[in-house]
Amino acid sequence: MSPPDATDRLERYRSMRDFEVTPEPSGAPGPTAPPTGSARFVVQRHRARRLHYDVRLEMGGVLVSWAVPKGPTLDPDAKRLAVHVEDHPLEYFDFEGVIPAGEYGGGDVIVWDWGTWEPAPRMGDPLEAVAGGEVHVDLFGERLRGRFAIVRRGRRDGKEQWLMFHKHDDAAVAGWDAEDHPTSVKSGRTNDEVAADPDTTWDSNAPAAEAAIPVARRAPVGGPPREVPTWAPPTDDELAALDELGPKGGEWHVDGEVVKLTNLEKVLFPATGDEPATTKRDLIRYHACIAPHMLPYLEGRAVNQNRFPDGVDRKHFWSKSVPSNAPAWLHRWRNAEADPGETEWYVVADRPAALVFLANQASLELHPWTSRTEAPQQPTWAYIDIDPGPSSTFEDALVLARLYRTALDHLGVVGCPKVTGKRGIQIWVPVADGYRFDDTRGWVEKVSRAVGATVPDMVSWKWHKADRQGLTRLDYTQNAINRTLVAPFSARPAPGAPVSVPITWDELDDPDLRPDRWTVRSVLARLDEVGDPLRPLVGQQQVLPDLG
Ligand code: MN
Repeated sequence: MSPPDATDRLERYRSMRDFEVTPEPSGAPGPTAPPTGSARFVVQRHRARRLHYDVRLEMGGVLVSWAVPKGPTLDPDAKRLAVHVEDHPLEYFDFEGVIPAGEYGGGDVIVWDWGTWEPAPRMGDPLEAVAGGEVHVDLFGERLRGRFAIVRRGRRDGKEQWLMFHKHDDAAVAGWDAEDHPTSVKSGRTNDEVAADPDTTWDSNAPAAEAAIPVARRAPVGGPPREVPTWAPPTDDELAALDELGPKGGEWHVDGEVVKLTNLEKVLFPATGDEPATTKRDLIRYHACIAPHMLPYLEGRAVNQNRFPDGVDRKHFWSKSVPSNAPAWLHRWRNAEADPGETEWYVVADRPAALVFLANQASLELHPWTSRTEAPQQPTWAYIDIDPGPSSTFEDALVLARLYRTALDHLGVVGCPKVTGKRGIQIWVPVADGYRFDDTRGWVEKVSRAVGATVPDMVSWKWHKADRQGLTRLDYTQNAINRTLVAPFSARPAPGAPVSVPITWDELDDPDLRPDRWTVRSVLARLDEVGDPLRPLVGQQQVLPDLG
């Protein structure tokens, strides 16, 4: 039995999870405490030559083990093949990491479930039950619960074939499938995440006590900022040539390339009371002119594009892959870790001509990855995302942003706020090389919970919009691979063509500040006047203080 406060903590944890991100049903475990005692069990999801789940029961000082190709299930009508494999040492109990290719069991392993077990009444001595080919146990895990039978059926290819199945009891769930639950109960990570960035490797040739080898991680240590290239704005002659192209478009010579432009008079952003309509020609011109300011946030990164081919009031789609009509000079990056069906080839916008090409595609909202292509698992920014709900105001967002200002100031951490161009405020915090998304997400969560605790009536931690009662959400879950925020100076899909703009901390107190104050027409004048306060933070190797 858990003490009540542990149960409460678990409840809270469950309410925090973003169910839209992982396909775990509500109530599923995330990182949990390891079981104790001498009757533990573990199930490891092991991607070796073939995917299987290793079910291991602690008995007599070893882990008696079966490999279950389809994974154990709570479905009492499903019987799973379970191949009896050699006992494993206790040291292997909570192993999660990578077994080098070529070694026995080479592949990646996560701790998919753990807990304790009890023999079913009348089973007798557990080791004798294994020898006798019939094991009946009650499992008390994070996922597996209730009575299981594991029964020997015969031999094939020199291996004992058993069947594992759940009894019809209160814990049984029809149709339950292990593959719907892809995360580790030890770390919350998937096999892919562990494989990409393991904490530990297992050397099967070493004695068990020495077999788990921590992976040396390059600890974030600070150092000089990463160098950022610079780019030139278009010349007056280049801009005049753009203006001379007819409504159908044509070839524009810019940035040393020839970019084919089409449909230049198409209205992408309708007019507002203050702003005229913005055509594709206007957006192309804007992308060319803003390039020296926006490219520091895009170069070296994959960029996800929100495309509005018929304007922002018509249907849009997210485009991650390189368009088929992309010119040869456009830089591309292949995500070697892409899952089957996931985008493999991304655009890297690292020169003005690339931004011009994207504008012609009506890719008007650009979301660069938080990580760079050379280290996709390592964020370069920690993001704080103040996301106002329908019944909260921009004033609420400002109150929260000022609280973050105080918190970061107190911690001695540099960051910079930015209006989104829509309703919210983000704060971008540069981080040193070597962090992982788990690190930045956990750090931002801690700061956000401290900030939120000072104004509990303003903030909701509920994941589903309907449950938030219109309150503001402090969203730390954007600190994950391929979850992105809008680039500084990117346009937003709204009438008048507003843009997302970094601001100084002092501007939070400017009574004229609005989240959509600047547009593709006005932001260049602002840059001439006050510059970009976020730009000096690009590539800064900031070590985040430990928050305990
Ligand atoms: Mn295995």
